[in-house]
Amino acid sequence: MANQRESQQKHKRKKVFIDQPIPEEGIALLKKSFTVKLRTAATVISRRELLKEIKQVHALLPILTDTLDAEVMDAAPRLQVIGNYAVGTDNIDIDAATERGIVVTNTPGVLDQAVAEHTLALMLSVARRIVESDKFTRAKKFKGWMPMGFLGLQLQGKTLGIIGAGRIGSKFAEMCKNGLGMKIVYNDVGRNSSIERKLDATYLPLKQLLRQSDVVSVHVPLLPSTRHFIGAAELRLMKPSAILINTSRGPVVAEKPLVKALQQRLFFGVGLDVYECEPSIDCDPNDQLALSKLDSVVLTPHIASATIEARSGMSLLAAQGIADVLQGKKPKHIVNPEVWKVRRT
Ligand code: NAD
Repeated sequence: MANQRESQQKHKRKKVFIDQPIPEEGIALLKKSFTVKLRTAATVISRRELLKEIKQVHALLPILTDTLDAEVMDAAPRLQVIGNYAVGTDNIDIDAATERGIVVTNTPGVLDQAVAEHTLALMLSVARRIVESDKFTRAKKFKGWMPMGFLGLQLQGKTLGIIGAGRIGSKFAEMCKNGLGMKIVYNDVGRNSSIERKLDATYLPLKQLLRQSDVVSVHVPLLPSTRHFIGAAELRLMKPSAILINTSRGPVVAEKPLVKALQQRLFFGVGLDVYECEPSIDCDPNDQLALSKLDSVVLTPHIASATIEARSGMSLLAAQGIADVLQGKKPKHIVNPEVWKVRRT
């Protein structure tokens, strides 16, 4: 007990900057041992303010809209750790962090259930035309039961194609197999023996997956190799009755050909939580037939991990990663493990 208190006091001079309010658990954990500055505005921090705030800090807890490049890191000569409040780290120049001896951590695992549940919600909303029919009902257009009104797709027995069968993709596949009786096919850079065994999932090359799937759900991280992973050629391979869901990162699916494919009714519908030109929903808002104007698309504002449970878990995990590094312990989820031996202390 005395040792723990001593260790907490020893690190009290170390400064941590949290740039937007997050659930209290992580903030409380950090406050026990470090000097914490919490920016209380629930708005994206400007680059100017970020550059000013990080000058003296030893640790930064950013959110995924903060672009952390070499310039930002050079403005923070004491920065030892970035505890990203997300599992994706495409907002951070990982090479620049590694070159500077800065450890980067993330929050895998605690949000899988939430993101998979949201993916399920989007898939069902598109298949059963929930948003479109909600608007119709509120507009008082419902005049009686319609034998041919709002016909949707039944999902039982249909094929779900998972692109990126990692933690979230596998969790979503499990829900669809066990809950809806869907058949699972997947594509990844490697084989996933666990879902092959437990869910009878079949590995397919990307083109075959796109041709065979009734629902395609994208779960790859945003990397140089996955930017526009689903473009015009891939969209053309999908069945006319298929549904596309993206809860990974916007730029994985190229928006321009997606809008064109929807305008040409090349497939049934789309559910999106993330956008190529985020926070703008439409890359070209002047386009009369932009994403936000099409009925066959269900849109949510990047909220797939937004459950109380997942966000509390992310808060604790991001904070724990920071606390570990500042106290000289190797964190559980380190994105650039090669930095550990040459890290700043
Ligand atoms: P994960 O690392 O467990 O899974 C990603 C999978 O994609 C891995 O199996 C990997 O091998 C595969 N992959 C990578 N490159 C590929 C390629 N070129 N082709 C095929 N497969 C490839 O990650 P996760 O925890 O499942 O998260 C996946 C992504 O979901 C995150 O990187 C993040 O961008 C996104 N995400 C979004 C939200 C949201 O709020 N919408 C929340 C959490 C995560």
